[in-house]
Amino acid sequence: MTFEDFDLDPALLEAIKHQKYHKPTPIQEAAIPIFMEGQDLLAGAATGTGKTASFVLPALQHLLDNPERSSQPRILILAPTRELAFQIHKVVKQLGHNCNFPSVIITGGFKMSQQVDYLRDPCDILVATPGRLAKIMEEDEVDLADVEMLIIDEADRMLDMGQGPTVRSLIEAIPSDFQAGLFSATLSGSGIEKFAAEVLEDPEVVQIDAPNQKSIQIQQAVYLANDKAHKHNLMTNILNDASCQSAIVFCNKKEKAIEVTEYLQSQNLSAQVLHGDFIQAVRMEKMQKFKTGKIKILVATDVAARGLDMLNITHVINYDMPFRGDMYIHRIGRTGRAQQVGIAINLVERHDIKNLERIEYHLKQKLPVEKIAGLEPSFTIKDAMKKLATKKKAKKSVKKKKAKKAFKKKR
Ligand code: AMP
Repeated sequence: MTFEDFDLDPALLEAIKHQKYHKPTPIQEAAIPIFMEGQDLLAGAATGTGKTASFVLPALQHLLDNPERSSQPRILILAPTRELAFQIHKVVKQLGHNCNFPSVIITGGFKMSQQVDYLRDPCDILVATPGRLAKIMEEDEVDLADVEMLIIDEADRMLDMGQGPTVRSLIEAIPSDFQAGLFSATLSGSGIEKFAAEVLEDPEVVQIDAPNQKSIQIQQAVYLANDKAHKHNLMTNILNDASCQSAIVFCNKKEKAIEVTEYLQSQNLSAQVLHGDFIQAVRMEKMQKFKTGKIKILVATDVAARGLDMLNITHVINYDMPFRGDMYIHRIGRTGRAQQVGIAINLVERHDIKNLERIEYHLKQKLPVEKIAGLEPSFTIKDAMKKLATKKKAKKSVKKKKAKKAFKKKR
């Protein structure tokens, strides 16, 4: 299938060519015709599958097909985070380059008065995070009465972040019949089914990546680490390998991310930390430097890395194992995007093994354990599991003894 097979305007085909999209990705193949027929869509598509273009292209085509003017937004795209909103807005600009449809982005972290000013100019496409848009609505500075198409991206994250009620109130402010698309990495859990039933009318359902499957483009591996120093050596070895062009190192906590960054910098590696405490402008600046290759390594927490999208990340390294399987999939989804191969590495100390087990259970697969010559670990997963089991048993027996003693005392 090619993009020419869809009934897209030459202006859009030209922009697609300019972006060097040679052929549609599976989500684009599935979603574009559904949207163009005017139907609602519920799409399970992981990040990195090309889902943004799968709704931006039909949205632009809709505006081209229905050229009536309104000074208020006709397309509303909601995203859970600022970064994702910016990423979507970028795609709107890129693919809409030859069309001249005014678009506005509204997110937290910027002056509201300025955003209100932007909204006073004509706006066909509004990309927004729910919280800030709701605030502007409260001030009566935006009117959603003319919205004809609503897209909700990463709906599962929205619900996880507690944005459900805000999104519902925004939808209630759209009085007319509108076409809707809801995208989510997973179509089960997080209350997504109920939410979809509220927002969508008789939708076509499309599932691209099974929620518990990683992309086949990502090679995953586990490296066992005896202790912190060993973990650091493994990490620098991997980062210094010629195959590593750019990497995200994930830590579970801000403090750890800072510590790891300082260590990498002390090893003369080009590393910067990205965590949720930085103001938006600083986060954007760091991301931009990373995207343009001025920084090779970004050490990030999960919150800070949301929405990070770029094609050139070769490595994702889990310095700390995440606590949940869906977090793991989200993290490693930063690499191996759009037909490129990526490498996801897990640095696992004994105390990380429980998290590793949980993730393997979620993925329904064992991750291969690999070694670096000269940096072999002094234990195996089997050893560590045995030790853990013995410890557990000992703890249980102490507890039992204590309970018995207490019981006797009572009698
Ligand atoms: P997304 O899932 O929308 O975040 O897209 C992930 C990446 O894939 C982005 O960098 C897009 O520019 C890129 N992309 C989207 N569609 C295509 C396509 N048809 N061919 C190649 N790359 C694409």
